[in-house]
Amino acid sequence: MQGIIIFGPPGVGKGTQAQLISERLKIYHFSTGEILRDAALKGTELGIKAKALMDEGRLVPDEIMIGIVKDALSNNGNSNGFILDGFPRTIEQAKALTLIFDEFGFKDIKILYLTADDDELTRRLMNRGRSDDNIQSILTRLHIYKNTTAPVIDYYKRIKNVIYINGVGEIEEINKKIIEIL
Ligand code: AMP
Repeated sequence: MQGIIIFGPPGVGKGTQAQLISERLKIYHFSTGEILRDAALKGTELGIKAKALMDEGRLVPDEIMIGIVKDALSNNGNSNGFILDGFPRTIEQAKALTLIFDEFGFKDIKILYLTADDDELTRRLMNRGRSDDNIQSILTRLHIYKNTTAPVIDYYKRIKNVIYINGVGEIEEINKKIIEIL
């Protein structure tokens, strides 16, 4: 069972690359944002709560997200592995994930860090057209990323080797680089 965490700012292309990696390596693509958007479409209690926060660009509370991830990883014992996209986004989530990996005995974990500068990210988010891609939500998301999510990479640097990838360029080229390194 191999596990990959794809990490990086909003708009850097995590979802696109995670999808390509999951197809190539035949591993399960697990996007916390997608799970929340599905729940919002279905109008579940979680979905209604999450949609309000997502539309403002704010984070869904840690205990909810940790529960979702633990469930998904425990229900996924038969596949070759997984790529986690959009989680962890806080130090609390990262610490909880370490405990979940220990509990499930997942040892082969790689951290991929996709990077891009703020102007490029804002430009991409403005062009994407998702319901939470308005300028106010984008600014909030970039702000929360800097203050709350970026420190997660320092947590991982202390315990693991982090693989840095430049996320600016052609999708296929970036994917080729990632597959070579993995
Ligand atoms: P994403 O598709 O990864 O950009 O996520 C979309 C939105 O879902 C985020 O802006 C957050 O509101 C919420 N979300 C997704 N993953 C998490 C997480 N790990 N922790 C808190 N909120 C999350």
